[in-house]
Amino acid sequence: MGDSKAPRLDVAIVGGGIIGVMTAIGLLHRHMNVTIYERAAAWHEIGAGFGFTGIARECMRRLDPALLDTLSRISQKTSSSANTRYWDAFHPRTKQDAQQEASALLFQMPEAHLAFWGAVRSHLLLAMAALLPEGVVRFEKQLVGYGDEPGSDKVVLRFADGTVADAHVLIGCDGIHSTTRQLLLGPDHPASRPSFTHTVAYRTMVPMAAGVEALGENKALSACMHCAPNVNMMSYPVMNGTFLNIAVFAHESSGFSDTDTMTAPATRDEVSRVAGLSPHMADMAQLFPEKLIKWGIFDMCENPAPTYARGLVCIAGDAAHSSSPHQGVGACMGVEDALVLCEVLAEANDKLSSESSQTTNRLALERALQAYSSVRMERSQWLVRSSREMGEMYQWRYGPTGRDAERCQAKLAKASRKLWDFSVDEMVLDARKRATAL
Ligand SMILES: Cc1cc2nc3c(=O)[nH]c(=O)nc-3n(C[C@H](O)[C@H](O)[C@H](O)COP(=O)(O)OP(=O)(O)OC[C@H]3O[C@@H](n4cnc5c(N)ncnc54)[C@H](O)[C@@H]3O)c2cc1C
Repeated sequence: MGDSKAPRLDVAIVGGGIIGVMTAIGLLHRHMNVTIYERAAAWHEIGAGFGFTGIARECMRRLDPALLDTLSRISQKTSSSANTRYWDAFHPRTKQDAQQEASALLFQMPEAHLAFWGAVRSHLLLAMAALLPEGVVRFEKQLVGYGDEPGSDKVVLRFADGTVADAHVLIGCDGIHSTTRQLLLGPDHPASRPSFTHTVAYRTMVPMAAGVEALGENKALSACMHCAPNVNMMSYPVMNGTFLNIAVFAHESSGFSDTDTMTAPATRDEVSRVAGLSPHMADMAQLFPEKLIKWGIFDMCENPAPTYARGLVCIAGDAAHSSSPHQGVGACMGVEDALVLCEVLAEANDKLSSESSQTTNRLALERALQAYSSVRMERSQWLVRSSREMGEMYQWRYGPTGRDAERCQAKLAKASRKLWDFSVDEMVLDARKRATAL
């Protein structure tokens, strides 16, 4: 706080996922007090891969350079001169045809400014957690309620074990089923629950040698999207090229039974059934374990949140704008959220004073959170819509565009440009300006 006698801002983060931990590291780097409340008993993430764009990496660097160093240490870096290639996984009938660019390549998109750095989710979470000082995380703390009285300068958090805690600000990074979002918008608000996108995902990672055997070296060693009616498959190398990350997405016309866990048991036979359309996808299906879990893909496209902040409480990452994974940047949007939050809260922190009234201090924090919400709304909700459309396009269900390689390429190029042709500086300046002008 500006006043040396004033206590530093206490920030409570609910959820120790990728975005909760990144936000905590950014706030600690700006000398605020942070506690993460995570409902699980220990750090948990799955062993699948995900990637971060150049913009997300720039945000990580600004959050705390140690974050970018951490990602750099463990990630597989796509060169900016590389291409993601989009293949026809339906018409070529032989492996040889499926491998030939002349008979199977639909188009390719330069990585250019996106230049993803791919990491294994569980590796990244643990590596980031190692940057946190002791005592920052409280496990087995499931948020069930909060009180945010207009006359108070603190929000009171209530947990399932009957304990309470307070903080100047509560940031809900509690994922797609966010309790914070339900409490902030009200349990009956349509945006309190995500919707099923009628897509399921089967994911695995296999040693690169097996990937090369199934796809051929040309396809296995680079990022590829394999497109077909009602099914698509993404494959790319991770862990310094030693493993191939594979995700098969299939259209599911009926509903999804378990909307809470968003998972259901599946078998290799099921993957073969949905992905057996082409010789390459059929071979890849054989690399899945005999029994596995399939993921229902849910998002907030149909019911976007009307705000990300109210009073001293806000939501970030998937809690605010959970997206389908087809554009591959859901977490990247959360990284941008984290940076804006850290910047507006640091600015508010500097202005707060022990001599000011509770109302003045509260107002400054409310303004900071409203500025965050208004700056992040358009871009993050665009991504949710765009990602849905990409999924439909890869499965040739997006009107005439789906089957038209040229139109697909143009649509993808436009969406990619919106992702990278973006100024982090302007986003941060805009948020700061709004925080003081509101
Ligand atoms: C198949 C797939 C592929 C993807 N690929 C990419 C990619 O390549 N690039 C990319 O940028 N994004 C990708 N994404 C999106 C990305 O995975 C998410 O955007 C990201 O994981 C969201 O992180 P988060 O921290 O907001 O939420 P989560 O990771 O869901 O973390 C939420 C945390 O909150 C905890 N929690 C929940 N409720 C409570 C409570 N009441 N109290 C306390 N704690 C609670 C949970 O236990 C969890 O630890 C992909 C998603 C999918 C499904």
